[in-house]
Amino acid sequence: MQPPRSLIEVAPRVYQVRLRGTSSFLLLDSRVTIVDTGTVGSGRRILEALNAAGRRPDEVEQIIITHYHPDHMGSLPELRQRLGMRTAVHVLEAPFVEGRLPMPNVFPRHRNVLSRVAQPILERWPFTPVPVDLVLHDGDELPVLGGLRVVHTPGHTPGHVCLYVRDLALLVVGDALQYRRGALDLPSRVFTEDMDEARRSVAKLALLEVQTIAFSHFRPVQRAGSEHLRRFALEVAPAG
Ligand SMILES: [Zn+2]
Ligand SMILES: [Zn+2]
Repeated sequence: MQPPRSLIEVAPRVYQVRLRGTSSFLLLDSRVTIVDTGTVGSGRRILEALNAAGRRPDEVEQIIITHYHPDHMGSLPELRQRLGMRTAVHVLEAPFVEGRLPMPNVFPRHRNVLSRVAQPILERWPFTPVPVDLVLHDGDELPVLGGLRVVHTPGHTPGHVCLYVRDLALLVVGDALQYRRGALDLPSRVFTEDMDEARRSVAKLALLEVQTIAFSHFRPVQRAGSEHLRRFALEVAPAG
């Protein structure tokens, strides 16, 4: 069967599921890990993609959330209800996902300029809290595809994580980086809480041996990932 166009093979056993304006990832090991869940209402498409990849819902072991923005965990409550799998979130963002702290404004900068735009979006964001079963820390390694390392990359949000699969030289960067006109770029200023932190996080990613970089909002870069990262880290290094 030909996989649907919305399913991109990023690396062996790793698929990017293209959703409305964002992505989810399927990591196919003996069990399945889903990374991010798209906006509210994306659950059905993720399950269709899982089926197209030849796996069943009862094989899903966990969902890892890269960060708490609505285009990354909008369908978490829905999927959790349907699949009952465990949820993994960085320690700094778990209190928001669990509803112990109110979800922060997703437009930290330009609050005044964008308030008219932001308000309707926030009103459509009645996030149902979800229990976090696995609290992630920098350097944690999960037994997925030979070892999936959690890399804490604050900046875009305080508890943003990238995921590094050493055996595949694969780095899933979520929103820590963008890819425009053939080059890496910092995360969008409008949606990013601390640009200096975001720059420091790029330097951290440049230390990894990477072939493939997978982004939430762009197609993957499938070769020479480290060269891209190291060149870009020098470009954006904070002064001093
Ligand atoms: Zn984001
Ligand atoms: Zn995003």
